[in-house]
Amino acid sequence: AAKENGRNQHQIFSEDMLKETADRLSMEHALRHALANHELSLHYQPQISLTTGAVTGMEALLRWTHPRLGEISPAQFIPLAEETGLIVPIGEWAFMTACREGKALQDELGMDLTVSVNLSPRQFQQRNLVQVIENSLAASGLAARSLEIEITENMLMVNSGGNLDKLQKIRELGARISIDDFGTGFCSFSYLLQYQVDRLKIDQSFVKQAGTDPNAAAVVRTIIAMSHGLNIRVVAEGVETDEQLRFLVRRKCDEAQGNFISRPAPARDFGAMLRATANNGAMHTANGRWLT
Ligand code: C2E
Ligand code: MG
Ligand code: MG
Ligand code: MG
Repeated sequence: AAKENGRNQHQIFSEDMLKETADRLSMEHALRHALANHELSLHYQPQISLTTGAVTGMEALLRWTHPRLGEISPAQFIPLAEETGLIVPIGEWAFMTACREGKALQDELGMDLTVSVNLSPRQFQQRNLVQVIENSLAASGLAARSLEIEITENMLMVNSGGNLDKLQKIRELGARISIDDFGTGFCSFSYLLQYQVDRLKIDQSFVKQAGTDPNAAAVVRTIIAMSHGLNIRVVAEGVETDEQLRFLVRRKCDEAQGNFISRPAPARDFGAMLRATANNGAMHTANGRWLT
């Protein structure tokens, strides 16, 4: 704001900016204590097979409930955690917790669920990342093939800190790799050929528009065709309507995830929800109809 204010160039900080900085500092301060104060938790959003309707996996999503401020959105605190480096201890906690809760759900439900955990660029740079993942698997007893790491396209393209080597090591452990928000980054096909990935997640912006915008529909169809051509499974994110779900079934998308199917929920509720579904965990959609 001060920059635009040409007459007042000596005024480096406007009051708004001061307030923003103060808010940021207090949020940073609060985030530093969030982990120790047990204010962080994970919610899980199911992913379903579009051929059987069965739940095949779940994505772990961080939640922060501040005692005074209430729910703080990941869109606000993940970037802050990333900038301050707090994502490293928070991310370690998330790996450990997702593996532990995922394993408990597998045992409780007798189902072979994949647990997806998001990885941010800063975590990817972390020297002992592979060790952190190995420890989480060992301590929880979760099978490596049940763990999927979600990275974004751009993370595939920056080979700093040996992160591509880490990707290889993660695959050697037996864990899976998926590309999140696919279609929004700058990944060229050569990266997909070079680094084997197990799944692509079509970004929700395309999924949302696919019913109404022919270009978005073409993008979704193209990503599905490309994935199948490369033998990579494909999951659509952010499915919000029956129409979107039908479109994806028609286009032979493998899996889907989104609020229309189920909102992210704590592990306890996730387990209860699956126990309540008949058909060996086949989900019915938010409008009460069975998928298949
Ligand atoms: P993401 O990995 O792309 O996760 C999907 C986001 O879409 C989640 O937002 C989820 O709640 C939301 N979502 C799911 N279905 C729908 C839908 O039908 N409609 C709409 N509008 N949204 C839907 P959330 O939980 O706010 O997380 C935002 C982002 O924060 C995630 O995007 C991910 O990049 C990051 N994040 C979340 N948890 C973690 C974590 O444990 N570690 C790291 N490094 N990043 C995380
Ligand atoms: Mg994700
Ligand atoms: Mg995504
Ligand atoms: Mg994302």
